[in-house]
Amino acid sequence: MRELLQLNLGFFTKSCLVLGFLCGIHLIVALFFYLSESPLKFMSYRQILPFSDIFNSQTHKTAVFGIQNGTGTEVDEKKWIYTNRSDVKDDVVLESCPETSPLLVGPLRVEFSDPVNLDMVRKNNPQLLMGGRYKPSDCVALQKVAIIIPFRNRGEHLKYWLYYLHPILQRQQLDYGIYVIQQDGEDTFNRAKLLNVGYAEALKEYDYDCFIFSDVDIVPMDDRNTYKCSSQPRHLSVSMDKFGFRLPYKQYFGGVSAMSKEQFQKINGFPNNYWGWGGEDDDIFNRLVFRGMKISRPSGDIGKCRMIRHSRDKKNEPNPQRFKRINHTRQTMNTDGIKSLIYKVIDIEKDQLYSKITVDIGKP
Ligand code: UDP
Ligand code: MN
Repeated sequence: MRELLQLNLGFFTKSCLVLGFLCGIHLIVALFFYLSESPLKFMSYRQILPFSDIFNSQTHKTAVFGIQNGTGTEVDEKKWIYTNRSDVKDDVVLESCPETSPLLVGPLRVEFSDPVNLDMVRKNNPQLLMGGRYKPSDCVALQKVAIIIPFRNRGEHLKYWLYYLHPILQRQQLDYGIYVIQQDGEDTFNRAKLLNVGYAEALKEYDYDCFIFSDVDIVPMDDRNTYKCSSQPRHLSVSMDKFGFRLPYKQYFGGVSAMSKEQFQKINGFPNNYWGWGGEDDDIFNRLVFRGMKISRPSGDIGKCRMIRHSRDKKNEPNPQRFKRINHTRQTMNTDGIKSLIYKVIDIEKDQLYSKITVDIGKP
């Protein structure tokens, strides 16, 4: 019995050794075939850059529009490819962002009752660079957009604007910067002149091709309302809560609007001499029409937005001259505008969330 057991054990040990040997050979053969089948795999891994490198290559303007490789405009799932896959190069060519961002979520909840503070907004938006600047890291934005906000004594509203807009603008895959143009002193407010200043100051910093002019108290309720320019000047705040979610009148161009550099230059910018509340937006509308342009708008559904409730500010009383002035746009627009703009920069404050430029724009 014992002999039988010893015989069996010896046979068992031998079988194990043979099996182990066969497994080893199998592993070596499998590894050999795996390596010889796809040597490029390993070269490709080397080409995958860390996030920060992709971002830097874009900020240093090595990124270009479109893709060039052997097969034309082939796109891989990572949204970036190499000029030549067989070439091992460090420079990554980013593809341009899609016409419609895949990051959009549609209708948004917008409330102005929750407490908001700037530190919280900074923490929520870690990708922002100084001056409230941003650009997508995985594609080249279709437009370079400067967002201009006329401002004085509206810190509370600015917090909400930044809180809601920064995430939206990032989801819209824009290359953008925020310019808060603060009127210095206590004289009568002049919204349109501040917007002209914002245009001029933003262009000193970066080669923007699109300008969004936005009141500080208006927040879109749908991120499909993209803050970018189109072939015609675009009115974005088309369906505001304060007007019962409809246009107050057909020619209304107030609140939030978008204009390309060419469109803005074609109308000699905005009027500089509307002091106090009202009329400047109608003057801008007239300018666009007199230069043969039409207003484009999103649908009422997508264009819904909320305005933070407020009373009329001091030193921004309704301008009694506004009716007379908008009757003379055709004559005044050639001499009064961006070409005749005079102002003095008093201070520039750069924050992670915005550039705040304080300016002396004179008085009426
Ligand atoms: N504004 C400001 N401080 C003022 C007056 C106006 O910052 O003292 C700016 C602010 O961006 C505001 C915009 O100018 O949203 C338009 O003024 P307002 O909100 O009074 O216009 P309305 O609500 O009647 O459209
Ligand atoms: Mn308002």
